[in-house]
Amino acid sequence: MHLELSEEQVAVQQLARDFVAGEIAPYVAEWDRAEAVDRGIVKRLGEVGFLGLTIGEEYGGSGGDHLAYCLVTEELGRGDSSVRGIVSVSLGLVAKTVAHWGNEEQKRRWLPGLTSGEYLSCFGLTEPGTGSDAGNLATRAVRDGDDYVISGSKMFITNGTWADVVLLFARSTDAPGHKGVSAFLVPTDAAGLSRREIHGKLGLRGQATAELVLDGVRVPASAMLGPEGKGFAVAMSALAKGRMSVAAGCVGIAQAALDAAVSYATEREQFGKAIAHHQLVQELISDIAVDVDAARLLTWRVADLVDRGLPFATESSKAKLFASEAAVRAANNALQVFGGYGYIDEYPVGKLLRDARVMTLYEGTSQIQKLVIGRALTGVSAF
Ligand code: FAD
Repeated sequence: MHLELSEEQVAVQQLARDFVAGEIAPYVAEWDRAEAVDRGIVKRLGEVGFLGLTIGEEYGGSGGDHLAYCLVTEELGRGDSSVRGIVSVSLGLVAKTVAHWGNEEQKRRWLPGLTSGEYLSCFGLTEPGTGSDAGNLATRAVRDGDDYVISGSKMFITNGTWADVVLLFARSTDAPGHKGVSAFLVPTDAAGLSRREIHGKLGLRGQATAELVLDGVRVPASAMLGPEGKGFAVAMSALAKGRMSVAAGCVGIAQAALDAAVSYATEREQFGKAIAHHQLVQELISDIAVDVDAARLLTWRVADLVDRGLPFATESSKAKLFASEAAVRAANNALQVFGGYGYIDEYPVGKLLRDARVMTLYEGTSQIQKLVIGRALTGVSAF
């Protein structure tokens, strides 16, 4: 693993920092209170190339390696996790999965729009009755001539009400458990598909999270992504890389917590001196700093493995597990440094903590990551 960034990686990192400073930072608090980021951000993310990272130029992508993708994701996460999540889902979970599993027609149909920000996508795996046990999903796709007719519902879908297309997982054969699941690319304007935005989230308030209901939605058989019955493998391959992206976003949260804590500790005075002079405040700050470094190194290792074509799924679970728990700790420690001011939303650390909390829940809870890691180490599945 090379820890030194290349010139291209430094350049894209700087581009992301400039983007966050100009397009995100001035509006973060406003978006959080309004429970919606400015929708125009999708187009701007596309224009600057962030929705096409790692995707080939022949499909409108901006190329680059996975470390560059993680650097951008970290910076977006430092700016606003709601915006970071838009990219992690539309590019990370969907476009990259279409690039990997799609046939030429599917790639040409969806990738140019997704990488430019003309289209937004969402990832429809979770259902009201199946979260961690996603392979047991109940949504059904029944073959009817040249079509499939899909019925069921999907829960907590990021980008759900904004998306133009959903990568949807449904049971298309009678094979038991995850073996009967197939993946479909379903336009969200299809007849029979309705969406309800979920409000009142603890964090990621700027993001459009939705419940999707499919009532006899008809799609051509050509909408199937990957082979029939391999949908669960499609989902797991998406999530293996998705967890790297979540981890990178968590590094961004922890870095933002560190920056805020250091800055506040050197300004705020108590007992006649800046609180940075108090050893227990320094303990809080140094704990955050160690979490930032450890989470970043684990995340970069995953990116390095992906870029070298080596197995990375277990390492991705380790990075996601550690980085998400670290982001919660870091944001909580930063809030402590801010004292009572940390508890009100005029200051940034409360939002960091609210946004961090979900990272230990989605794309596999911390418990599920431990089971993934434990299975890889022992050969025993304890799910
Ligand atoms: P459950 O699976 O019911 O888990 C409840 C508790 O039981 C957890 O603590 C869990 O760790 C524990 N548990 C479950 N099984 C085991 C076990 N075998 N051993 C030990 N402990 C266990 N999903 C999508 O498909 N697409 C999205 O875009 C998306 N975005 C989301 C955005 C937000 C804001 C949120 C909150 C969720 C999102 N999700 C999305 C869903 C998310 O992935 C699920 O919430 C998550 O997988 C957990 O499922 P669950 O909520 O049903 O919890």
